[in-house]
Amino acid sequence: MSIESILQEVFGYPSFRGPQQDIISHVVAGGDALVLMPTGGGKSLCYQIPAIARKQAGQGVSIVVSPLIALMHDQVGALHEAGVNAAFLNSTLSSEEAYQTEQRLLRGEITLLYAAPERVTTPRFLAQLDTLFERGQLSLFAIDEAHCVSQWGHDFRPEYRALTVLHERYAGVPRMALTATADALTRADIVERLQLEAAAQFVSSFDRPNIRYTIVEKKDASTQLLRFIEREHPGEAGVVYCQSRKRVEEVAALLAQTGIHALPYHAGLDYRVRQANQNQFLRSEGVVMVATIAFGMGIDKPDVRFVAHLDMPKNIEGYYQETGRAGRDGMAADAWMCYGLQDVVNQRRMIDESPAEEDFKQVMRGKLDALLGLAEATDCRRVRLLRYFGEESRECHNCDNCLQPPEVWDATDAARKLLSTVYRLQQTSGVSFGAGHTLDIVRGKRTEKVVQRGHETVSTFGLGADYSESQLRAVMRQLIAVGALQVFTSEGFSTLHLTEASRAVLRGEVPVRLRESTHQRPEKRSRSRTAPAPVAANLGQDAMVRFINLKSWRAEVAKAHNLPAYVIFHDATLAAIAERAPRSLADLQHISGLGTRKLEAYGEAVLAVITGTSPALTAG
Ligand code: ADP
Ligand code: ZN
Repeated sequence: MSIESILQEVFGYPSFRGPQQDIISHVVAGGDALVLMPTGGGKSLCYQIPAIARKQAGQGVSIVVSPLIALMHDQVGALHEAGVNAAFLNSTLSSEEAYQTEQRLLRGEITLLYAAPERVTTPRFLAQLDTLFERGQLSLFAIDEAHCVSQWGHDFRPEYRALTVLHERYAGVPRMALTATADALTRADIVERLQLEAAAQFVSSFDRPNIRYTIVEKKDASTQLLRFIEREHPGEAGVVYCQSRKRVEEVAALLAQTGIHALPYHAGLDYRVRQANQNQFLRSEGVVMVATIAFGMGIDKPDVRFVAHLDMPKNIEGYYQETGRAGRDGMAADAWMCYGLQDVVNQRRMIDESPAEEDFKQVMRGKLDALLGLAEATDCRRVRLLRYFGEESRECHNCDNCLQPPEVWDATDAARKLLSTVYRLQQTSGVSFGAGHTLDIVRGKRTEKVVQRGHETVSTFGLGADYSESQLRAVMRQLIAVGALQVFTSEGFSTLHLTEASRAVLRGEVPVRLRESTHQRPEKRSRSRTAPAPVAANLGQDAMVRFINLKSWRAEVAKAHNLPAYVIFHDATLAAIAERAPRSLADLQHISGLGTRKLEAYGEAVLAVITGTSPALTAG
């Protein structure tokens, strides 16, 4: 079968997306490839179609290396639904099950085998691969989430380093590495570590036009989050990222109290609880997962409508990867972050206090600065994000700054007062102080500490009394963000220090223009003009009834197969069916997402739902 026929008949999609066709042709012909595509770009087909094509051509099994043990069951289930022979080998299988799978592998019955990296590199598994290799039945290695090989990526997994053995041992077997994260540094590292110097590189645009980026100033984070969810995404699925496990628990409990179906997820929870919560998120509708970054890699739920950050991530790669989990179905989705001075201080502290080498820390600081720049930006967020990944673009009209350009005020005077306070404190007492104490002095507050230390006599005492505390906090945060003020931490205390860049500000040589943050303007929100609204929004009344019936039918099938509903059919496919109101199997042809196998398996049942003769629906 040609790759076009596989796309249409097995997966039911009318056409390739972006660079898929080039990548697939290249790999089918035996080439190595490095594939960089944003989350939701369609990476899976880039190795699944070559695997099917090469298996049909008698070239044997493709091995998919993936760190996502907890998701392999669903990934393989999705392939079964499409009629593809797939299997997985990981620690969730009993030894009997694993043995059976190995036997099927050796008998040549498997097209795609998913395995964790630590499994792939065991002597036992390598011996099996040797056998297949000798028979010419080893077709392809697809290394998914390839950024895990790099310590510059944010999911470093030492097991990935051992994968070089594949190249050395199975010369001539094509290899592809796929990832959604890749700044230049990580990319170079992947190439070097996986010895892909000779591989063709396919770099897609990283833009996710349907995601709207919004970054707000942190006041009362939980309340802000609650308002955001209630106003923008009631009843919809989303992910909320928090820095700490404790915070995850608190926020999940708070959301649950207000009637939101929220569940916690972090590495400190029992494996079974984590797994159960993840399954609920994948299998039920409208669940909000409150999580640390331990959650999300490989989650391919297509209808996550928002990703919220209650704390700032470490860098833009992390932010982009996490926000990328919203809107994989291409429909409008939100990436919302709330951030404040404390985030900046905490992130700096984590870097300072980490046991890493100084030059590693330097790289981490640079990465943090780039994210701070994004957070403080007054211009298009997307332009900045994409530029970070080496892509030039124009104003997007789908981020907060584009939709409501922020007001900018001249903060030069306030900035000078803050900086000279830091300077004078250092001069008079020979030691440095933290943000809170410095703010108190500038605002002229006679706190116990101020009085005790005699800091009322500092010449800048009270000079900033006209500014509100939140204004000055914003100034300080932004000075730190632009590097005109530095935070050092030792033994748990953070102190402020001047930098090269402070001097020019102090002398009044560079104006400081900052985002207006005191007056919270009312948020006017509207669904994006550039991204399609969630599927069901456009259905007429009758079609809507059919859509709802189809969804409840799908829920039953999914439950019976122990798979998430979207693995059976995406919402978009159900909406297209509802719209068409088919009367015969022929009417079901050429609906996107409905391949040959699914038509055979579900065609009649779908027709029964549409015509209202489905036993499942009439019974109740
Ligand atoms: P990634 O792994 O790059 O994040 P996936 O492979 O999960 O993305 O694909 C994202 C979604 O897009 C999936 O639901 C997939 O079925 C769908 N998709 C991929 N390629 C196509 C295509 N050519 N036409 C229609 N839908 C596609
Ligand atoms: Zn924009």
